[in-house]
Amino acid sequence: MTPQDKIAILQHLIQIQSVNANETAVADYIASLFAPYPQAEIVKVPFAPGRDNLVVTIGNPAGPMLGLSGHMDVVAPGDVSAWHHDPFGGEVVGDQLFGRGASDMKSGLAAIVITMLELLETNAPLAGSIRLLATVGEETGEYGAATLTDAGYADQLAGLVIAEPSGLGNVVYTARGVIDYKVVSTGKASHSARPEKGINAIDNLLKFYHAVGPLMAKHTKVDPVLGGLLHNVDLISGGEQINSIPAHAELMANMRTIPAYPNQVIYDELAALIAQLNQEDGVQLTLSYSYPEEAIPGDPQAPLVQLAKQISDQVCGHDTQIIGSGGANDGAEFLRAKGEFTSVELGPGNDSSHQVDEYVSVSEYLQAITVYEALVPAFFAQVAAEVTATEE
Ligand SMILES: [Zn+2]
Repeated sequence: MTPQDKIAILQHLIQIQSVNANETAVADYIASLFAPYPQAEIVKVPFAPGRDNLVVTIGNPAGPMLGLSGHMDVVAPGDVSAWHHDPFGGEVVGDQLFGRGASDMKSGLAAIVITMLELLETNAPLAGSIRLLATVGEETGEYGAATLTDAGYADQLAGLVIAEPSGLGNVVYTARGVIDYKVVSTGKASHSARPEKGINAIDNLLKFYHAVGPLMAKHTKVDPVLGGLLHNVDLISGGEQINSIPAHAELMANMRTIPAYPNQVIYDELAALIAQLNQEDGVQLTLSYSYPEEAIPGDPQAPLVQLAKQISDQVCGHDTQIIGSGGANDGAEFLRAKGEFTSVELGPGNDSSHQVDEYVSVSEYLQAITVYEALVPAFFAQVAAEVTATEE
């Protein structure tokens, strides 16, 4: 495939508007690229109408399976008038290709797809198989990855590369999780001259507010790369008018978790606090979550982490850093699969993700394909060497 062909595929992906929905159009386009190859096994796995995940498997089923994953959704373009380039145009200026998803992460997605297409094109014998896991809804809760994991599509993985925009100078081996929660306090309205007739929902919500800070501050473990557990109440509202005892108040908090504290630990503690406060007279608090994501534990010395660094060093001629990430990714869901494997994040892109004038460097995008094409056979060789070492 020529560089122009590779750029055209990325442009086409950006031109499909898959803003937190409509991923089926992306899945159909990618499936059409694999259609000329009968040896590619193509499966669409629905999440919701118009929202299909795509799984494509190629190679030798007798060997280990490497997963290559990318999400097909993008975040909204925001204020379109602030963009200097059509957010869904895929315009190229010099070495920059612009558009929503150029960095996060249609360039990574295109790069892993092209890697597989080129392996099919050259008909190179493979010592293992490669599975494309293209997901829906990563940006709003990783539910595509959850669907695929629940359906068993990650069970055979021996390793997983997620093509999120780490930049080729970084391999991400661990990531923070996220817990967004909401507490609603229900009271009873009354005239503020007769407060004894009502129940003040704000007062009761503040009981939670004052208790939860110290409770979360007890989690003093610090991850060497990610840091400590973060808890912030970021939204609070309540009351109807100045002379009424408020019947409703609510707050929302955002937590950034670390592998030392699995989400269930936090859920249990919050539930216990709510139950304890609800014992008090008049207190009625309810707790809910929106799409929590687990932290991704990792070992910087894991063979796949080291291999990804080594290949990226060789191809790009730089010293690739092995780092942690403040944001979760689909790997958190895929790691729930039956087998044990390492998940790394390595892909083209930069800090322009989620911003106006999002772009990717065209040369980095093309280089990513070279990196993946070198990583695939090296991974199969690495697994084979590990198997031999264990047998000896
Ligand atoms: Zn992303």
